[in-house]
Amino acid sequence: MDGYFVWTVGCQMNKADSERLESALGQMGLAPRPSPKDADVIVLNSCVVRQSAEDRVVGMMTSLKPLKQRNQDKVVALMGCMVGAQTAALEKRFPYVDVFMRPQQYQPLIDLLGERMGIDADGCVGPLVARADVATYIPIIHGCDKFCTFCIIPYRRGREVSRPVAEIVREAEMLVQRGVKEVTLLGQNVDSYGHDLPQERDLADLLTAVNDVSGLERVRFLTSHPNDMSDHIIDSVAELDKVCEHINLPFQAGDDRVLADMRRGYTNDDYRRLIDRIRERIPGVSLSTDVIVGFCGETDAQFRQTLSLIEDIKFDKVHAAAYSNRPGTIAERKLEDDVPNDEKKARLKAIERLQEGIATDINSALLGRSFDVLVEGRKRGKWFGRNRNDKLVFINDGESEIDLQGQMVSVKVEKTAPWSLQGTIAR
Ligand code: SF4
Repeated sequence: MDGYFVWTVGCQMNKADSERLESALGQMGLAPRPSPKDADVIVLNSCVVRQSAEDRVVGMMTSLKPLKQRNQDKVVALMGCMVGAQTAALEKRFPYVDVFMRPQQYQPLIDLLGERMGIDADGCVGPLVARADVATYIPIIHGCDKFCTFCIIPYRRGREVSRPVAEIVREAEMLVQRGVKEVTLLGQNVDSYGHDLPQERDLADLLTAVNDVSGLERVRFLTSHPNDMSDHIIDSVAELDKVCEHINLPFQAGDDRVLADMRRGYTNDDYRRLIDRIRERIPGVSLSTDVIVGFCGETDAQFRQTLSLIEDIKFDKVHAAAYSNRPGTIAERKLEDDVPNDEKKARLKAIERLQEGIATDINSALLGRSFDVLVEGRKRGKWFGRNRNDKLVFINDGESEIDLQGQMVSVKVEKTAPWSLQGTIAR
């Protein structure tokens, strides 16, 4: 048994979970393989936040059946949000799966592999630290207490549990020793970090502690909730030198009735005032958001409130998704998924068109400016990285033989597009 294949779908939290699992498999002596057929251990890390994600997992899982039938020694594991507290239905549906694991519950797989490989897995797997890329994730709070009516996450990832500050700082220090320069502190609702710790701490306290980690160059955090984004957090972003000026603040819908039906706990006006406070306190901040279109009962006029909010605020990035009914959520039990699919698609298109224009304008204004870019790797034959505002920047440099990975370089922007910038290294 010497190779593994981990397939991941879903949010950054899932990606972080997969990185940690891969790190553990690496410590057990297993190496990554390019496809399931080359691997002895196959893990699907699943997402059920939307029907489309669930369909992809089912498709992938089904494609593994003949592989497992041909070679019973392969270990197949399903982890992530598709796995709830009860697994009987999944076991019936996918009888060829060896292990089912809830989010972050890696141990059943580690134990099974330890047994098969005849090694003491406990001794072999140290603290789970992510793979060492230039920029990586550190989960700081698991679960969510909000219970938005459309969302399955609290049922699958459980209630909020914060990791202690000292443990997170230690992990950041270990990552720096392995070459990491940037960490993103992750949580489903990162702004509520710390309320459950014995000595109450908040995200601002944690950002301050991580900002002090020597050798670390940048700190980001994801995802925020408008109700928990306190002035203390906003001030810490403004004041701490390593904390980047970028905030992802989902608003989900522009209409107050729809927001109430979603149980988001704020109004359109509350959200706008919060954005004003953030922009006033953090000059040059970039903003991204998440939006759902076609939520139960959303009329055309209500959807237009969403468009107006996007038009007025001018986000750098908008992640829009069509509502899909998730079994077990409050919306599925109490509301009607009554917006036709074609209408949902048309609303998505309207947001895409509007946002493309906004992002084009925002990015064109950056032409000729220089930014510090932390180089993460090569893509499409060019070095790429991000600036502090989380803009993807490609570097046009004839000197591709120079290894820029992990370097902080100043790049002068020479070309802009809605979703990325291009430039050369300013000398
Ligand atoms: S804040 Fe709402 S949308 Fe976000 S994870 Fe929690 S329940 Fe889901």
